[in-house]
Amino acid sequence: MSYKKCNNCLNSNRLKAKFCDCCGSQDLTEINENNWLTKYANEPSNWLDNIQISSLPLVLNNEYKRLKEMAENDERYGILLQIRDVGEIMLKLPILVYSVNNNPQIYDGKDKETNEDKYLPLWSFMNNEMTLGSWIIAAARLAFEKGIKHEAISVLRQLQLKNSLFFYDKEKKVTAFNEWRNNEIGHGALGYADNEDFGDVLHMLNLITETLKKTIDDYNKLKDSINTESAPRIIYYDNMNPSHVYFYDSRYKKHGKLTDSYYYICYTEGKKTPPIALEDIPKHENIVGGDINV
Ligand SMILES: [Zn+2]
Repeated sequence: MSYKKCNNCLNSNRLKAKFCDCCGSQDLTEINENNWLTKYANEPSNWLDNIQISSLPLVLNNEYKRLKEMAENDERYGILLQIRDVGEIMLKLPILVYSVNNNPQIYDGKDKETNEDKYLPLWSFMNNEMTLGSWIIAAARLAFEKGIKHEAISVLRQLQLKNSLFFYDKEKKVTAFNEWRNNEIGHGALGYADNEDFGDVLHMLNLITETLKKTIDDYNKLKDSINTESAPRIIYYDNMNPSHVYFYDSRYKKHGKLTDSYYYICYTEGKKTPPIALEDIPKHENIVGGDINV
């Protein structure tokens, strides 16, 4: 039966109740008859434990916790977007961290004679509008680059192994994550949320957690691996609000021409910035995780 659970005293109330019959609280959550998501959420073995979660880099830590909360609160539609965000962060973070270390300056596009490989993966960042597909290509190129030892590269390699989130299916020519995104949120036709296979949510939650279990030690090391001496503008913190981490997204094009302004995404806020000119991008003081880790 569907009902409203009181978050204050846990009393079960009628579905139409506005106040709790027992304590009068207005803090009620609707519990649906078919509670496949909350059932999944309440099984601890489906999630990283608290120690594991706390060892993730800050932005991933926050967003994974949010994912879990949304499942607990039975937010079936909202969780689709959160799955997308967590997946994107898992992919972009190691690429960005590696890029910061190895190409601390954004390539200005002026050095035309340069071998593009010297600037990988930033070269492709700077010369294209980045789609999810371009991030995947950057990840694949880095992962299979020989002779690089770096936590970020280990993460990227793991992400692409079988049964991981970004495993590339050669027959379908798509990664597990892209396939899910195309099928479930790309075309706007959402299924019926009462069904347990809605949005392939349970499968994706499982895939995210299993992939993180395999990569958690390397993600953990990313926290310490950013070179703070240089002025990387690829990931930065909002110094006024340290939980806001901005990820490089793409270069701003005006009338089809590249400009010296860039877009960033703050996943914590779920917002893309307006184009920011290179000289206005703050130098970050805090590195990924570090002393502001929660
Ligand atoms: Zn109550």
